[in-house]
Amino acid sequence: MDLQGQTVLPTPTPRPLDPDLLAQQIVERLTYRMGKNAAAAKPHDWLHAVIMEIRNRVIDAWIASTKKTHEEKGRRVYYLSLEFLIGRLMRDAASNMEMLDAVQVALRKLGVDLDIIAALEPDAALGNGGLGRLAACFMESMATVDVPAYGYGIRYVNGMFRQEISDGWQVELPETWLTHGNPWEFERREASYEVGFGGMVDPAEGPDCGPHQMRWRPGERVIATAYDTPIAGWRGERVNTLRLWEAQPIDPILLDKFNAGDHLGALAESNRAEALTRVLYPADSSPAGQELRLRQEYFFSSASLQDIVRRHVQYHGDIRTLPDKAAIQLNDTHPAVSVAELMRLLVDDHGIDFDEAWDITRRTFSYTNHTLLPEALESWPVPLFERLLPRHMQIVYAINSRLLGEARRSGQFADSSIGAISLIDEGGDRRVRMGNLAFAGSHSVNGVSALHTDLMKQTVFADLHRLYPARINNKTNGVTFRRWLMQCNPGLTGLIREAIGDGFLDDAEKLRDLDRFADDSAFREKFLAVKRANKAALSALLRDRLNARLDPAALFDIQIKRIHEYKRQLLNIVEAVSLYDQIRSHPEKEWVPRVKLFGGKAAPSYHNAKLIIKLANDVARTVNHDPSVQGMLKVQFVPNYNVSMAEVMIPAADLSEQISTAGMEASGTGNMKFAVNGALTIGTLDGANVEMRDHVGEENIVIFGLTAQEVADRRAQGYSPRDVIGESRELAQALEAIAGGVFSPDDPDRYKGLVQGLYDHDWFMVAADFDSYSAAQRQVDALWLDQQLWAKKAIHNVARMGWFSSDRTIREYATDIWKIL
Ligand SMILES: *Cc1c(COP(=O)(O)O)cnc(C)c1O
Repeated sequence: MDLQGQTVLPTPTPRPLDPDLLAQQIVERLTYRMGKNAAAAKPHDWLHAVIMEIRNRVIDAWIASTKKTHEEKGRRVYYLSLEFLIGRLMRDAASNMEMLDAVQVALRKLGVDLDIIAALEPDAALGNGGLGRLAACFMESMATVDVPAYGYGIRYVNGMFRQEISDGWQVELPETWLTHGNPWEFERREASYEVGFGGMVDPAEGPDCGPHQMRWRPGERVIATAYDTPIAGWRGERVNTLRLWEAQPIDPILLDKFNAGDHLGALAESNRAEALTRVLYPADSSPAGQELRLRQEYFFSSASLQDIVRRHVQYHGDIRTLPDKAAIQLNDTHPAVSVAELMRLLVDDHGIDFDEAWDITRRTFSYTNHTLLPEALESWPVPLFERLLPRHMQIVYAINSRLLGEARRSGQFADSSIGAISLIDEGGDRRVRMGNLAFAGSHSVNGVSALHTDLMKQTVFADLHRLYPARINNKTNGVTFRRWLMQCNPGLTGLIREAIGDGFLDDAEKLRDLDRFADDSAFREKFLAVKRANKAALSALLRDRLNARLDPAALFDIQIKRIHEYKRQLLNIVEAVSLYDQIRSHPEKEWVPRVKLFGGKAAPSYHNAKLIIKLANDVARTVNHDPSVQGMLKVQFVPNYNVSMAEVMIPAADLSEQISTAGMEASGTGNMKFAVNGALTIGTLDGANVEMRDHVGEENIVIFGLTAQEVADRRAQGYSPRDVIGESRELAQALEAIAGGVFSPDDPDRYKGLVQGLYDHDWFMVAADFDSYSAAQRQVDALWLDQQLWAKKAIHNVARMGWFSSDRTIREYATDIWKIL
């Protein structure tokens, strides 16, 4: 105790980075914390001991950051996302805490290979694809640019499924990432909240109760318990918290039922609660029309909002100042029910007048839209919403009457068109439109690339945009260069440091200094050598895992992303089939040796996507066994694409396939990762590809195909794919081969329906873009023959991609939307 009677706590001593000491401490952890003898320790034990050592350093910085945030009393950012596609954390944390080299040396002294144990860390896949990965990149960037932020999500016991390929077909298996425990998370039993479902709503009674104040008596309740993971920013300046909720039963076991012999009944509540946070819903770009999904959305929204409100009241007292101290970002509409939940907390629990509550809510929330696909816009049947969330249904109606009133008073809407902005879709079965709720409840609505934001104004939110013309803004996505350049590509990172120094490590825009090295032939040689080494490493991995034989001298052409018709893996496969035909017809020509790699998961219920995976595998088997194209064409599907696989494949890519139907990819972030690792992009003018072209220069990217406007025009004119196919001999031949069973002799009709779809409607304009794509690929071949020119263009890509760092994106959010930088 000091004189004021306060306990004086010792400050933790700085942890040494001397590799000898580090080695000693790792052994101490192994011995005294884990009870293992170093001589008998298994790789998993070493991994655990190393993580604990890195973790200590993270925790010191975490405590300091949390203290600083409390003391500053400034605005905090809350990033609500149903997905966080994190991947492994060890290298990320060690690198950001600037101890990666020391750890590596320490382990070497102990006879342990960092790469081997790092590969044992489970890949945390609490997301489907780009949207979840964006949330993970943002968490790291928010810590890096010193934004006090909390991520909120769900701690899925089984995240994204593990994909195996069996006889060419996708098989889904549960991913058990928590089997060996998770050393990065801390359970916070003190942070737990009740979340209700169903039941009844009565008017609140009492002298102070306002007319809108209600009392909700849920029929069912579960407990949300927090698990916190520290997310360290670059150089450890700030460590933020990712808070994931687990559902627990209020009564884990009903003893009276158990004692009466009803053992299953006694555990029913427990099982029901656990089911809530068990699985991640697959994104198949169609709303999972399932009650459990809406339950998950409300569960995590309610727990997060209760936590945010509790923290605000604890530190600032007055709930009315919430918008000054909290900026809540909704990552897509999955957390949109939060808008109604905050209204409920304000009106029912805090007795705030409805209109004032609505003002507070709108000043607190902002919303990011991620898709224009109409079938992907979330909506819930009114009867389901009402049964599960009766109080929220009332609030939605009350918000809606204000919204429609405002629209009428604006004089801009005829009675016939006002329905478009309503929160309730009245066509057919009545549904609650979550996109409109998120839009109405936010002061900022952003798209994720310039093109996407423009299209948002013209399509999905055209009417709401007319009513609130200042609300929509653009925040082009980015990726964290710590993970997607420095950690995944140490070879290239080292080469860049040699050339331009370390400035780019702190400011990605400084990569620009590399531009002039594009004309330096010695640098180009080193650059090509690094790429070659990365390709050799990928080849070795795929040889071990898949017994694949890839020649690192060939052009590595890679398309990895969720399998979806709009992303057009089919266009790529059909072109591969066409190339295969051409090589066989003209073996005398000088063909550029190509390895075509595919990877990605299909939503389990998405029939055509799964068939496309099978087709890629069927084509691979045929092509790879045909001696007449040996050494010229190879096709390989890589199973179980995830963050860790991306980290190996992207640095090894020569060519990045970003070939979605123009107007359909909101942004893409895979495109950015490839370019900064020195791949050239072949792509359409879609999503962020448009801005990538502007940055890298049109001579350093291969653009083909229809523009978004041309796609819309073609559709409006009545697009006839049959005519297009009739005019392209190469396309017709490739499609005939696929439909005729050349690649599926065991089941010749397997692809008849898939190909028929291209003739009949071709929703995604595969036929319309085929000739242009094929010509672009031959342009790529020609370029490949001039390796010096290729290297020059690739170096320009690396040098000019700095703007696509998620640090830039986060600074824009912080300045324009959250108003904190
Ligand atoms: C970056 C990333 C994505 C997003 O890729 P797109 O090509 O933008 O769709 C999906 N999955 C993983 C594992 C990623 O790392």
